[in-house]
Amino acid sequence: MTNNQQLFDSARRLMPGGVNSPVRAFGSVGGTPVSMVSGEGPYLTDAEGKQYVDLVGSWGPALLGHSHPTVIEAVHRAVDAGLGFGTSHPSETQLAELVRERVPGAQMIRMVSTGTEATMTAVRLARGATGKNIVVKFAGCYHGHSDGLLAAAGSGVATLGLPGSAGVTDAQASETVVIEYNDRAALEAVFAEHGASIAAVITEATPANMGVVPPDPGFNAFIRELTQRHGALMIFDEVMTGFRITEAGYWGASGREEGWTPDLFTFGKVIGGGLPTAAVAGREEVMAHLSPTGPVYHAGTLSGNPVAMAAGVATLQNASADVYAHIDKTAQVVANALTAALTDAGVDHSIQKVGSLFSVAFGTSAEGVANYSQAQAQQSFRYGPFFHAMLEAGVYLPPSVFEAWFLSAAHDDAAVEQIIAALPAAAKAAAE
Ligand code: PLP
Repeated sequence: MTNNQQLFDSARRLMPGGVNSPVRAFGSVGGTPVSMVSGEGPYLTDAEGKQYVDLVGSWGPALLGHSHPTVIEAVHRAVDAGLGFGTSHPSETQLAELVRERVPGAQMIRMVSTGTEATMTAVRLARGATGKNIVVKFAGCYHGHSDGLLAAAGSGVATLGLPGSAGVTDAQASETVVIEYNDRAALEAVFAEHGASIAAVITEATPANMGVVPPDPGFNAFIRELTQRHGALMIFDEVMTGFRITEAGYWGASGREEGWTPDLFTFGKVIGGGLPTAAVAGREEVMAHLSPTGPVYHAGTLSGNPVAMAAGVATLQNASADVYAHIDKTAQVVANALTAALTDAGVDHSIQKVGSLFSVAFGTSAEGVANYSQAQAQQSFRYGPFFHAMLEAGVYLPPSVFEAWFLSAAHDDAAVEQIIAALPAAAKAAAE
């Protein structure tokens, strides 16, 4: 049997860092990445035959657990009918209907293939619809890897952004303003300085890419109010939260907000049921600016691919209120056990949690982390030993302290017990 080390050595000879997406390389936790060969329910099995309880869930899509029989069957049926036609077909409308039923603000929908493409398209659409150029984003919010969204904060509150990656030009970054999350004064200052030129504010509905950071009460509504006042659009990035966090009746983080709706949403992960699908959605009048009805160009060879649509439709059809109740309850049980184990081991920490999405931050005050500066200031060195102790005990956590833990409908008592049993030793490892 080829082991994980041999597989990673081969991968490193062929792919930069041995991976196709950087966090998978275990850079921040050390050690050899585990090569997974199959997934079923709450479990993954690696190339050496070891089984893990999975808390990554394919980074979010696996809401129902791995290889859910109904989803697999729907995909098989779609495959048997053909892998793709490059034409209109019924299941893309079916998935769009399911999205609109659950997110009333999503009046029209355009399917794309990745979350990156969704946010990139939403930004272009916002610029095309408003005729303005500047996009405001929050430090620590991740919206995929399109050039303009890989901007880093400039030196002052209302200054234009700097490139956040090699290869992003000053010109691209300079049309993005980056400010601290949950900072109303900074947002007001940006609008005071650049109001007439701001096309959109883009925000994760609940940030979960600097660890989970709950929006202060009313912060999203405040973004809505300022954007509306200045004729800018609000883009609610629900690639992570959409159809995962559910409260107040509908099925993204926006369900938590009352009395308003963003202009545009982006979805991904869960709506593709594990296959490459994402979407831009929003107000009909704004969405009508997209080609072919409007002048903002967007296209995609694989957009609305029927096999991916089948996975998405089967996933959303099975994402019942019971599924969400189970995930919310299970997340609370695991979060409680996590905080108890860390407290027993004397490790200062905060559990960062919104609905079923949560993460842990080390060495923080009891109030927890409210923005990216605080997230970066935590004792992230404690996560590597914690992660490896869990891995040893057969629990696969995200290989970075800045990522959320994902539960699924398939995490049953046996899986949860295995997680809880592993926590005390991992907490001790984090304490050293
Ligand atoms: N937006 C958010 C909030 C995300 O969490 C991610 C990915 O994790 C993206 C956008 C980009 O999605 P993708 O990785 O499918 O390009």
